[in-house]
Amino acid sequence: QVQAVLNALTFPLETLQAVKEHMHQAMRKGMSRQTHAQATVRMLPTYICSTPNGTEKGDLLVVELCQSHVRTLWVTLLGDGNQSPQVTDKIFDMPEDIKQGKGEALFDFIAQCVRQFLAGISSSQNRLPLGFVFPFSCRQTQLDKAELISWSKDFSCSDVEGKDVVQLLQSAINKQELHHVDVVALMNNTVGTMMTCSTEGKTCEVALVVGEQHATRVPGWWVLGGLHWCSPTLLAADGGFNSCFMAEAQQVEMAEEISGRMCVNTEWGCFGDDGTLSGILTPYDERVDQESCKPGVKRFEKLVGGLYLGEIVRHVLATLAAEKALLIGSDVTILSTKDVLKTQQVLEIINNGEGMAEARRVLEALGLKPSEQDCSQVQQICRAVVSRAAALCAAGLAAILSHMCQSRELEQLVVNVAMDGELCQGHTSRFEEVLQSVIGLLAPECTATFVHSVDGNGRGAAIVTAVALRLAAQRREVDQLLAPLRLSRTDLERVQALMRQEMELGLGRESHANASVRMLPTYVCNTPDGTERGDFLALDLGGTNFRVLVVHVAQDGIHMDNEIYVIPTAIMQGTGEALFDHIVECIMDFQMKQDLMEQILPLGFTFSFPCQQLGLDKAVLLSWTKGFSASGCVGQDVVQLLREAAQRKQHVGLKVVAVVNDTVGTMMSCGYDDPKCEIGLIVGTGTNACYMEEMQNVGTVEGERGRMCINMEWGAFGDNGCLDHIFTNFDQLVDEKTINAGKQRFEKLISGMYLGEIVRHILLALAEKQLLFCGKPSPKLQTRDIFKTKFLSTIETVPLVRDSDGLGLRQVRAILQDLELQASFEDSVLVREVCQTVSLRAAQLCAAGLAAVVEKMRENRGLAQLAVTVGVDGTLYKMHPRFSQHLQQMLRDLAPKCTVTFLQSEDGSGKGAALVAAVACRAAE
Ligand code: ADP
Ligand code: MG
Repeated sequence: QVQAVLNALTFPLETLQAVKEHMHQAMRKGMSRQTHAQATVRMLPTYICSTPNGTEKGDLLVVELCQSHVRTLWVTLLGDGNQSPQVTDKIFDMPEDIKQGKGEALFDFIAQCVRQFLAGISSSQNRLPLGFVFPFSCRQTQLDKAELISWSKDFSCSDVEGKDVVQLLQSAINKQELHHVDVVALMNNTVGTMMTCSTEGKTCEVALVVGEQHATRVPGWWVLGGLHWCSPTLLAADGGFNSCFMAEAQQVEMAEEISGRMCVNTEWGCFGDDGTLSGILTPYDERVDQESCKPGVKRFEKLVGGLYLGEIVRHVLATLAAEKALLIGSDVTILSTKDVLKTQQVLEIINNGEGMAEARRVLEALGLKPSEQDCSQVQQICRAVVSRAAALCAAGLAAILSHMCQSRELEQLVVNVAMDGELCQGHTSRFEEVLQSVIGLLAPECTATFVHSVDGNGRGAAIVTAVALRLAAQRREVDQLLAPLRLSRTDLERVQALMRQEMELGLGRESHANASVRMLPTYVCNTPDGTERGDFLALDLGGTNFRVLVVHVAQDGIHMDNEIYVIPTAIMQGTGEALFDHIVECIMDFQMKQDLMEQILPLGFTFSFPCQQLGLDKAVLLSWTKGFSASGCVGQDVVQLLREAAQRKQHVGLKVVAVVNDTVGTMMSCGYDDPKCEIGLIVGTGTNACYMEEMQNVGTVEGERGRMCINMEWGAFGDNGCLDHIFTNFDQLVDEKTINAGKQRFEKLISGMYLGEIVRHILLALAEKQLLFCGKPSPKLQTRDIFKTKFLSTIETVPLVRDSDGLGLRQVRAILQDLELQASFEDSVLVREVCQTVSLRAAQLCAAGLAAVVEKMRENRGLAQLAVTVGVDGTLYKMHPRFSQHLQQMLRDLAPKCTVTFLQSEDGSGKGAALVAAVACRAAE
């Protein structure tokens, strides 16, 4: 009969393998947002994402709520790598009735303990941060915000479940007039213990709790046994049974964090509450469960946890005695009494060198009369119960280790397992022996080294609190620095309103001269309707290359052919005559090659320099830019200059129909595919927009009928000071060093030429405040324009993974390393945040500008709802991973009455110029 019981308590490896697999599934279920609510293993986020770096210092208070007492600690960290913290503590016994009384009374009691404790300590600190160790399941949303999900053990205070326990403690502390005490962090006991293993630059990434933790006082910090290169896993104990580990943050779907790692409190005691473990439960387990204060729950804990092992043994003995297989001749009624056999006694019976004598002592103390055989069999039973607990615990831990190994894509995980608690005390304990051997079988890909923690709780909590404070202080500084770049909705509405105001000024005949947005008429009065046909020539001057194109607009679409020509610097900076002669020569060469000499094709001229247009084919150059400086052109009509050159070259077949700005080209090329396209937008080196305005609103051109495309030249928005309130120091620094300081102020917040430079200035400022690169920026980072806008695209595209083999981090690192910057993981994350902040602002400002445009168009047309398409070009818009998304989202928000579609233009300067020519020809016919 005894052997049958022993057999029932012993599992074959396949069973343990299955338990591990079930645990792994339960963990995944707990981490996923969809299934979290039904999960038995809740995988609660702790918001502990960082481990100590040793710079933590100051006085800290810790309050630990334990099974039967409250412990307060005063810890002084010296910023010396946490080598020699000073710790003072005090234990306050808790009256038994408090645990089942009112919640308020419990927190008042804790606060009174704090007050009494502080009365004996003098501190000069005016603010005293407090870390609260609260070993119950909480739904945590911040480090200092945690709703109690449910009480466990023998706690059941009223009015606490569902409430924020940090708030409850803070209120109770305030009631004690301890206004300088600030509850800054709440943590489970597992987490605190894990943290003590992270001193000396060694990170600890797993913790496990089994049984009562003892507040043993040991001088100095507990240090890992020389295994500085691997992370310790911690196995501790709390009267219950729990574990935590550092999970990849993006897998912790219940928390918003996506980078790095976050400690997850598994709360795995409830594993099996859905029936998963029913196959392995014995009748004794069922009885333990029935007699517990909450039957049916915490099934895993009831198999392994320190509160229950004595009970399991008691039920086994009671059953065997009733069957007359054991303790014959004794009165065994005592074995029906709950809790007469303590787990501690069970452990002594098996661990003690004199286990047999111990068994006898324990049984006799219960008034039993054990025979020699009884003692031996009781010892075997105790050993079987503890071994089973250890094997099941190993199955759970194996699931965690394998999960970590898999999610980090490692072939081999080397990890330390730090332990605490009565079940695994003493290096040769039976529990630990079985645990280790079973882990070796169930997770062979993981090398776990078991390490004992001593009083991890109190000190660990102090460290968590200190790390939280350090991070919070840094965060405050970063936020302060970035705050001016973060625009509120109100800010953006104001920008929108200002843009609208400047647009009106720019359109008005009288006000035009004072407007920062010039609203230049383009003499393009129609967008394509798809019926355009014919062959056209196009010129593209002012982009990266000079090109000549032939464009065939036919029934089946648009076909183009083009040739790129070089304009030698000598010609760019020589005389106007030479420049235009060169252009005509290129055209003739192209026509020759394309066999087009005999035809007179209408020509559209994309001329991307600022012009005052007087007609579709009449554009007075206002100034050269982009390295051009040919003499005798400024103030002249560029079409006339081209015609004169053609005459000089005796090229009679040239018919210039239109001069086109690149925004207009973009709008027209998209308009051919989508007739709703009445806006053009460029976000490339610079930024600009055009749209179809009512002629009656265009005060600068005669005529009231129909519409005309207006080239807004919105890059200059704000040049009259109207945007001064949103410019930051960084924008000023960027602007000051440009060749056109004080000009194109809106453009300098948005476009590709400037975003990288803004980021560079912010990085320098962060480094100067010791918030980045250990306070040491490289000399290279001091170089103007060294930080390219395309870096923003790269940095913002990749997910950041902490592992050294994570692709994302490698790319960010590569960029930073090229700039000779030594970046930690946290540095990379912060650099990415800076990039995100700058590109988000650019996209939102662009949206505010566009919102003004679409709203004006809607009002012009007296529509309740406007549907319109924007043709867009520019590498920043096209290549940045989030720009277009943020732009569109903000635009929907700012102009809800407009449904705006975005269409990317392909070769707007070539195709667009031809289409302007085509539309003009159609109109002329
Ligand atoms: P342009 O406006 O002169 O016609 P583009 O539209 O190609 O030229 O834009 C060039 C600008 O795009 C440059 O200022 C550059 O900083 C920026 N840029 C280039 N590559 C990227 C990228 N991958 N992501 C974001 N911006 C980029
Ligand atoms: Mg361009």
